[in-house]
Amino acid sequence: MAKTLTVKTKVLNTATHKVTRGFGGEDGHKGLDLVPGSTSETPTVLAYDAGTVIATGNISGIYKTTNTQGMGTYVSIQHKDGSITRYQHLKYNTLTVKVGDRVKKGEPIGVYGRPTTGNSTGPHLHFDISFPTKPEAPCIKSTYLGQCRFYVDPTPYLQKGPAAVKYKVTASSLRVRKQSSLSAPIVGYLKKGDIVTVTGTQNGFGKVSNGWVSMQYLTEA
Ligand SMILES: [Zn+2]
Repeated sequence: MAKTLTVKTKVLNTATHKVTRGFGGEDGHKGLDLVPGSTSETPTVLAYDAGTVIATGNISGIYKTTNTQGMGTYVSIQHKDGSITRYQHLKYNTLTVKVGDRVKKGEPIGVYGRPTTGNSTGPHLHFDISFPTKPEAPCIKSTYLGQCRFYVDPTPYLQKGPAAVKYKVTASSLRVRKQSSLSAPIVGYLKKGDIVTVTGTQNGFGKVSNGWVSMQYLTEA
């Protein structure tokens, strides 16, 4: 069953995003497959954050391959924190950006794939996010554009963080960082089972009383 995300950062210009396929699993899915709330919508696809377009493809039709053709009509954006986001299986001939373009957060980059393109069985947006260094969160290592990249579950990056919600820590020793970044200094640790109050989210991190922790190791208490 599709899970509906309450999104903070939209990558589809619709009120809701439904996840038809999650991150990971047996076949190592590197991102999320997203569809709009209503099957009749053909929204624009929006840049997750500001950045520079580093690769695009404009392909029509279905290709059952894992190479670039499999991405169909797609856009890849490099962000200033080193992350790369990819938007795959867009509609042929609808891209509104090209390599080298700078985009703003939320800027339209193309149109949702109705019809779909690339290695895809039906209309959906494949969205993924990867980092150049190994994150604390569970990740999938894969080479992209000749670089070693680490793909993480995009869910906490897109999801709206509920205000002041209590979470339980699921990791044995969870680092608390000064800022919402994996490169920020560690200011403390939380134990498995600790209950924390998260008052905001940013970059996949949740704000707790003394800093920021990865949302991937928190579950609603
Ligand atoms: Zn996918």
